[in-house]
Amino acid sequence: MDNIRLSNGGGAGKYVLDLFFPNRCPFCDEIIPYDVMCCEDCFDEVPWADDSICPLCGKLSCICDRGLRYDMCIPAAYYEGKAQKAVLALKYRHHADAAEIFGLILRERLTAAGLLDSIDIAVPVPIYRAGRLERGYNQAKLLADSTVKGTDIPVCDSILGRTTPGSEQHTLSAGDRLKEAAEQYYLREEVSLEGKTVLLADDVLTTGATLDSCAALLKQAGAKRVICAAAVTVR
Ligand SMILES: [Zn+2]
Ligand SMILES: [Zn+2]
Repeated sequence: MDNIRLSNGGGAGKYVLDLFFPNRCPFCDEIIPYDVMCCEDCFDEVPWADDSICPLCGKLSCICDRGLRYDMCIPAAYYEGKAQKAVLALKYRHHADAAEIFGLILRERLTAAGLLDSIDIAVPVPIYRAGRLERGYNQAKLLADSTVKGTDIPVCDSILGRTTPGSEQHTLSAGDRLKEAAEQYYLREEVSLEGKTVLLADDVLTTGATLDSCAALLKQAGAKRVICAAAVTVR
């Protein structure tokens, strides 16, 4: 991960903005130069995902035996330490910049795995409407946007819908999560994804229930392959 450029390519417009809204590191919240994404020290301290993770399910303790309907999941980091802080900031403290750096790492990994070129469309896991209105954005959409930045891959957030806010993930058993996720998501549009490879983006990979349910719907719409990208994976 040494060669990752941390520059955000900000430009003059961004500099003017920074006079009013200083650029802050998504990992420690300190003010940083306008043209970088985070502190170098923070970058080195983030528990980035490593080779111990199952390349198919994206979990440290493989859950492939559950018969997942997504084909693979690439996480950027483990859900702990600075990465956990950044994801919570993205979710609850309007720190949308955190999506930029996770997206950059995910794009690098997809490229390194030779997968980026195979992706036809990117779809974010939807959030409950009230949550989006309150926050002003869907963090999974920001991740999808930043992951495919600089490519021609379109991001479409009108394919999947979500009916309910859902319980706090960790309070449910894996079985209950699967059942709940299956009831929460639906296809909003009569779309055909026939033969397409879809990139499904989400912030946190916990039990895989959300990605599994969403992937099942995308496949119902004809998707040939669903590759997931998650900012973080829970150990
Ligand atoms: Zn920092
Ligand atoms: Zn696995």
